Amino acid sequence: MKIIIVGGGAGGLELATKLGKKLGRKKRAEILLVDRDHTHIWKPLLHEVASGSLDAEIDSVSYRAHAYQNGFGFKLGTLCGIDRERKVIHLAELKDDDGSVILPQREENYDYLVLAIGSVTNDFGVPGIADNCIFLDSPSQALRFQKHLAHHFIRLNRQLSESDAERTLRVAIVGGGATGVELSAELFKAREYFAMYGLRHIKPEHFTVTLVEAGPKLLPALSERISTAVQRELTALGVNVRVATAVERAEQNSLICKGGERIEADLMVWAAGVKAADFLKDFGGLETNRANQLLVEKTLQTRADPAIFALGDCAGLLRTDKDGNERWVPPRAQSAHQMATTVAKNLLNLINDKPLQEFVYNDYGSLVSLSDYTAFGSLMGGLSRGTLRVEGRIARMAYVSLYRMHQLAVHGWLRTLLLTLTDKINNFLRPRLKLH
Ligand SMILES: Cc1cc2nc3c(=O)[nH]c(=O)nc-3n(C[C@H](O)[C@H](O)[C@H](O)COP(=O)(O)OP(=O)(O)OC[C@H]3O[C@@H](n4cnc5c(N)ncnc54)[C@H](O)[C@@H]3O)c2cc1C
Repeated sequence: MKIIIVGGGAGGLELATKLGKKLGRKKRAEILLVDRDHTHIWKPLLHEVASGSLDAEIDSVSYRAHAYQNGFGFKLGTLCGIDRERKVIHLAELKDDDGSVILPQREENYDYLVLAIGSVTNDFGVPGIADNCIFLDSPSQALRFQKHLAHHFIRLNRQLSESDAERTLRVAIVGGGATGVELSAELFKAREYFAMYGLRHIKPEHFTVTLVEAGPKLLPALSERISTAVQRELTALGVNVRVATAVERAEQNSLICKGGERIEADLMVWAAGVKAADFLKDFGGLETNRANQLLVEKTLQTRADPAIFALGDCAGLLRTDKDGNERWVPPRAQSAHQMATTVAKNLLNLINDKPLQEFVYNDYGSLVSLSDYTAFGSLMGGLSRGTLRVEGRIARMAYVSLYRMHQLAVHGWLRTLLLTLTDKINNFLRPRLKLH
């Protein structure tokens, strides 16, 4: 029996670890994880990688080493096709930077396949976005932004030291969801640290962040109270918050809004929505929705093929919310985590000839962190029974605990404890920001 999981992200890595321990180690099934990257970093941390407050090289998990420790195999590869009749997936040829082939195009056969390849930024076809804005879909894109940011700060510091001319570094972020909001606050922290670590000519007035949201408020998925509090906090930090402002196109160093207004910026980030990868639209005849998500049954098996499961951002499952409205399970880390748990149970049940379980999405609330400054959110279910509004230190602690819970699912208690301790030691030993 061979189970392949494609995508070692928030959901896929938790699933591979679980199945490796329960089936792989006992030689009851071969578990193979395939990912296009060598390492895993929990995606909700990407805005911290982008600002430099998190060093991806230190905080990432090596798939190969983790697989060895947890009873599953790992293959580096990018999924590019499938033959459902022969039960094989196709992995694209892998080339080095200089164009030489590292791995040729390959096939891998499976008995059960789990697709957990996440999502990509949706530019909704707005002209000029893909060419002129940075997306935060992967660690390499976040690192690219971080490098640009560091170089811009260094250049600006030199310019300010050489002349009295008014110069500023301008960042524009499109999308007032959690990513845009959190990145805005992180960037202000980054400026403070750059100034502290020697770029002293850069004062607060030399750095601007404009956060552009098409809807009437920031954080559309959260309550009015939270979005008002977040907007107030960001404005106090110095972020130029622009709600009800739709971007119609982008050019080099500027966003052009409806009505013709031009927002000029040295760095532009587009974080205004996600969709599943375009190639899923035509992937072995599996059904998809408008966001390219693979339609799944409540067991999380794809509608067209019970041997293929999908979970996380790339899975489309409708649920009925408490007001009786049908909504898609949201593309969030907690959904990926919960789906990984159900898929693990269902694969074990299939192997043990037991009936499959239906997935039930539990919304435990949302948390938004404004770097070290503060955090806001609402907690649902569990101890809070109804909805509990939290902010400040408590919200920040709850926010950090989400990552710890992911670490717990991946590493277990002892390693998570040691990793938490290592983070504390690193806070003392290492610079507070990645500076290059
Ligand atoms: C900046 C940012 C902040 C966020 N903050 C939050 C938050 O605070 N709370 C929250 O709940 N959610 C947050 N999210 C959303 C959350 O990160 C995702 O919902 C979650 O990571 C989805 O998990 P997943 O397992 O479906 O996919 P991912 O975690 O995205 O993992 C997908 C994996 O698949 C691999 N992959 C992709 N394509 C291929 C391919 N063709 N072949 C092989 N491998 C492939 C990728 O390398 C990756 O390892 C945030 C997202 C971003 C970008």
